[in-house]
Amino acid sequence: MGLIGGGPGSFIGRIHRIAAELDGEARLVCGAFSSSPERSREAGEGYHLPAARAYPGYAAMIEAEKALPADERMDFAVIATPNHLHFDPARRCLENGFHVVVDKPMCFSLDEARELKAIVARSRRLLAVTYTYSGYPMVKQARALVAAGRIGAVRKIYVEYPQGWLATGLEQAGQKQADWRTDPARSGAGGAIGDIGTHAAQLAEYVSGLRIAQIDASLNTVVAGRRLDDDAAMLLRFENGASGVLFATQVAAGEENNIRIRVYGERGGVEWQQADANSLVLRMIDAPVQVLRTGSGYLDPIAAANARTPPGHPEGYLEAFANIYAAFYQALRDHERDPGIDVRDYDFPNVDDGLHGMAFVDTVVRSAQSDRKWTPFA
Ligand code: NAD
Repeated sequence: MGLIGGGPGSFIGRIHRIAAELDGEARLVCGAFSSSPERSREAGEGYHLPAARAYPGYAAMIEAEKALPADERMDFAVIATPNHLHFDPARRCLENGFHVVVDKPMCFSLDEARELKAIVARSRRLLAVTYTYSGYPMVKQARALVAAGRIGAVRKIYVEYPQGWLATGLEQAGQKQADWRTDPARSGAGGAIGDIGTHAAQLAEYVSGLRIAQIDASLNTVVAGRRLDDDAAMLLRFENGASGVLFATQVAAGEENNIRIRVYGERGGVEWQQADANSLVLRMIDAPVQVLRTGSGYLDPIAAANARTPPGHPEGYLEAFANIYAAFYQALRDHERDPGIDVRDYDFPNVDDGLHGMAFVDTVVRSAQSDRKWTPFA
């Protein structure tokens, strides 16, 4: 793999490197780790790469890797840069024959996302989007229970994503991650809604198996001087008529990363939260509450296949991330034999999910600006 982003002091690029290598199926062989050639070189040393494979920029990396013998060059590139720098490296990789893993939100704008979908189709390469939370085994268990009809037809979905790290004007103090996330020229039309609201929406749709059909949203900017929303709340209507509530906020002072979902059907409900990621609460209308646990023999095969350790040996964020990679690698292997595979047969978020996430941000922003109660989300 090649890594674009993940330079000194960055957040998620380094997580990608660990997750992608966790099962020993891939190895970091090159990167363009920073917009500064000097810092990219420094990062390459930190990743123990030969100096020649720590490139001064992603365009140079793609050209140079393409010129290497097939058994030496990278097979795919991971894009972990700020949102305005997803589309161009993704396009260049795909057009030069490389598969892509890109972090969410997939692009800067909905227009870019539509174009990227067309490029993926033309290039016949694979693209994965790392909606991390759908990688957790107990989230997959929840999805399997709902799909099997265990809780009956879904009626209510509550999904929440409170963080507190932007409760102060961190960007005004020059904090790097806050700086680009609150800048409309680098983050996109959404602040918190793009950064974490997209995760919440994807989780709700993944667990319920239902698409959001309509949104009535409110976007707030709580911290003075901030240029994008840092707090979002909305009512949802799902395609089957179920109703829901989604909130995503980065100003819930004291919260870490407390994403949580509850889905209720006619006969019961499931509840999962990242703070207790190895448990899934199952409530049935006529039975005591059950707590299902990762690694246990009674789980659905999809939950079992996405766990690495026995019960009581906790798994977490890195493993959830690695599960997305594992599904992507299976698709890559199959794609080598048959470039006509259907990516919908694989359990990783693909370019359609990435496009859907960008359409979500667009719809929420339009809904928040509109006086109408419901804004359709197609
Ligand atoms: P960050 O600011 O910590 O890191 C960005 C990295 O990109 C830095 O190393 C920076 O030097 C590098 N970079 C900037 N311009 C570059 C260029 N032209 N060429 C090469 N590298 C360049 O940001 P982050 O918090 O790691 O976020 C990066 C992306 O990952 C964002 O799109 C964000 O939404 C996403 N993200 C996803 C998750 C998740 O759970 N899936 C979590 C955090 C961030």
